[in-house]
Amino acid sequence: MKVAVIGGGLAGCAAAYILKKAGAEPVVFESSSTLASGASGNELGMYNPRFSAQRTPQSDFFSAAFSKALRVFRELGDSIDWHACGALHLVVDEKKAQRYPQTVENWGWEREHMRMVDAREASEIAGVPLDYEALYLPEAGVVSPRKLCGRYVEGVEVRLDKRPESLEVLRDNFDAVIVACGYNAGTYLDGLALGQVRGQVTQVRGHDLSSAVRCNLCYGGYFTPAFEDGVHVVGATFQRWLNHSDILEEDDRDNLNKLAAVVPGLVSGLEIVGQRASVRTTTKDHFPVVGRVDGLENVYVSCGHGSHGILSSLMGAQLLCDMICDAPRSLPRPTIEALSLSRFTQREQTSINRL
Ligand SMILES: Cc1cc2nc3c(=O)[nH]c(=O)nc-3n(C[C@H](O)[C@H](O)[C@H](O)COP(=O)(O)OP(=O)(O)OC[C@H]3O[C@@H](n4cnc5c(N)ncnc54)[C@H](O)[C@@H]3O)c2cc1C
Repeated sequence: MKVAVIGGGLAGCAAAYILKKAGAEPVVFESSSTLASGASGNELGMYNPRFSAQRTPQSDFFSAAFSKALRVFRELGDSIDWHACGALHLVVDEKKAQRYPQTVENWGWEREHMRMVDAREASEIAGVPLDYEALYLPEAGVVSPRKLCGRYVEGVEVRLDKRPESLEVLRDNFDAVIVACGYNAGTYLDGLALGQVRGQVTQVRGHDLSSAVRCNLCYGGYFTPAFEDGVHVVGATFQRWLNHSDILEEDDRDNLNKLAAVVPGLVSGLEIVGQRASVRTTTKDHFPVVGRVDGLENVYVSCGHGSHGILSSLMGAQLLCDMICDAPRSLPRPTIEALSLSRFTQREQTSINRL
């Protein structure tokens, strides 16, 4: 089974990885001269579910994606800069104070995987004093999206500097086509209604206090421990009104100010040593679009991964592989429906019909 994959970011590379393991022959088409040239090019990213107060088809997706990612990262080994250092999601406002305990209650994960901790325990886990209780995920952590893309496509044919003109040529030459090229998915498919949100991460060299930080601190922004290179990542800005990847000095200030607001002691003495900016692709309901494209035989899509693409690209890849290889689905039906492109197109159709 030959499968053309348009896009060499996390979504396309993860699809190629899962398909190859299932015995298919994926070929990745990437329009730029390197893989991971878009949102997936960060040196380090956090893998976290997107939290909701209730258990929903969307939370079932992220639960499945989290355990899938742990299995795959273990398989790929340490060449992807994987550190399961844990993550403390600090209760920094009233909304989180309401939502996080409900998440823990309603998602139903075992205590060993997810629990609330008070400020004293959070401080012990973090290695630095914290004033907040937190939702704690001991197995969350960081991984390199850029390196993941490289590892996912080992042994896969990759055609760089190749932007397929249209789906038609690919459909003539392949058994299936996956559109996984971020915002540009809209140039091949109708009805996606994608949005763009620019973001920048700041890399900082640490000091004595910051080197004590043992797990990710998340508070709207985030701060990672410093690993072998002594560098922390402070993230990330969100600008719906921008879609360029130029570096902005004010974004570094924003990232550090957000950190200073929750752990003031950490910021002074941090030295900025790098940045990366890029553009996330989002959808109207902040959930990715993954699945078969109705009305276009053998065409599939995986895009709109927003700010949780490390997890969602991988679980999305598994679902597409199930569909393409006609294997039992790895996700429940309501989740597959929540991911489908038809959730937008049918809604639009319905509203047109009502007019
Ligand atoms: C600042 C920032 C911080 C982030 N932090 C995190 C984090 O900590 N954790 C997390 O999970 N996620 C994070 N994200 C989000 C995550 O990076 C994205 O969700 C993910 O990279 C999306 O992957 P993608 O493959 O869909 O898109 P992209 O990585 O943008 O890949 C699309 C690829 O398609 C190629 N392409 C475009 N058009 C064509 C075409 N016509 N033909 C062929 N190729 C084409 C592009 O060149 C690109 O390589 C962050 C994003 C940003 C911007």
